[in-house]
Amino acid sequence: MDRIQMRTPLVEMDGDEMTRVLWQAIKEKLLCPFVDLKCEYYDLGLPYRDETDDQVTVDAANAIKKYGVGVKCATITPNAQRVEEYNLKEMWKSPNGTIRAMLDGTVFRAPVLVKGISPNVSTWKKPITLARHAYGDVYKNSEMAVPAGSRAELVVTAPDGTETRQPIFTFNGTDGIIQGLHNTDASIRSFAHACFKYALSVKQDLWFSTKDTISKTYDHRFKDIFAEIYEADYKAAFEAAGITYFYTLIDDAVARVIRSEGGFIWACKNYDGDVMSDMVATAFGSLAMMTSVLVSPDGNYEYEAAHGTVTRHYYRYRAGEETSTNPIATIFAWSGALRKRAELDELPALADFADKLEEASLAVIEDGVMTKDLVLLSTLPEKKAVNSMEFLDAIAARLTALMGA
Ligand code: NAP
Ligand code: MG
Repeated sequence: MDRIQMRTPLVEMDGDEMTRVLWQAIKEKLLCPFVDLKCEYYDLGLPYRDETDDQVTVDAANAIKKYGVGVKCATITPNAQRVEEYNLKEMWKSPNGTIRAMLDGTVFRAPVLVKGISPNVSTWKKPITLARHAYGDVYKNSEMAVPAGSRAELVVTAPDGTETRQPIFTFNGTDGIIQGLHNTDASIRSFAHACFKYALSVKQDLWFSTKDTISKTYDHRFKDIFAEIYEADYKAAFEAAGITYFYTLIDDAVARVIRSEGGFIWACKNYDGDVMSDMVATAFGSLAMMTSVLVSPDGNYEYEAAHGTVTRHYYRYRAGEETSTNPIATIFAWSGALRKRAELDELPALADFADKLEEASLAVIEDGVMTKDLVLLSTLPEKKAVNSMEFLDAIAARLTALMGA
């Protein structure tokens, strides 16, 4: 069989520990037999990041900007223990943080749904993708404890030196606390563009929610910026794609999300997104089935699994034991990236391969063959736990059949 050819290189970012082991196996068993992979390879594994003083992470982010699509393996974010374990020169920053900052991107997290593993919310039939604004608000706050008798004010000094003051509270007879938050129009605009672009790219409705009824200047600014950008740049494209942009109050959004059948993107402010993404992910079942896409406002895409390097499994693997680590989110990172590359380069055979790779992976699970984590969740009457390599082999066999057909 002729392998599928690619046109533009895909930016491939290798990673650490158990996911690095799975990464090689996925390429070898599921990708290379069918696709003549054209990748520009960056080794973001911790030893090479250390060797290059983390320059490799910066180079990888620049490559994504150049080519438009990347796929990333999970990587270790070093802490003190890792500095010792890997004898690092420095406690390097999170690669995801570096790449996100360089691309000015928004992260979209979406679950992979499969028969036999039902969401805890019985009405949910399709994935709910959560987009979290990852800048500002309470994550870059300034806060103080305030003694009784104090008067707190907001003070803003304009470029010409004039001060504007606004009372916050007078603490009569009790101690208290205050907090200062900010966001920027530039960051909110980037967030809005990334959300609208992603919604168009997956052809799903976009919901956005804030507490604008209470926060009439701060949250209202988010609502206004989204509305303005939608009208100016995306309304026509949304109508042509048959999707809608829908703004509602966060309380109303929460109620509607629970009653919905899924199948849309929910954009949230930073704190709402932090909390709601954990709720949505848990309700859909498993971290091992959660994918993640970073989208930049100018339309670059980076695909990865939402989970980490699965360290506990790796230590067992290194000790020569079998592991049953779930590769699904990493496989879907590859299929997502290849599909996007196919779309941009107009390669229908590659897009078809990406679809079949996902179909084969889900079919194996639906036939009752799965990793241990899924056996614990699955309601199928007959199911069998296999190790990671057996699972990948079963997917490869299924994929070979699909590709031959
Ligand atoms: P983790 O790697 O996501 O693993 C946490 C636990 O979740 C595992 O021990 C395992 O539970 C379960 N799990 C996660 N993914 C699984 C999979 N694919 N198959 C089966 N079980 C899975 O999180 P962590 O242990 O907190 O972090 C490990 C390393 O990953 C850290 O160095 C961290 O910096 C890094 N990290 C990287 C990223 C990223 O690159 N995007 C994200 C998060 C964390 P059991 O052990 O109970 O089976
Ligand atoms: Mg959280």
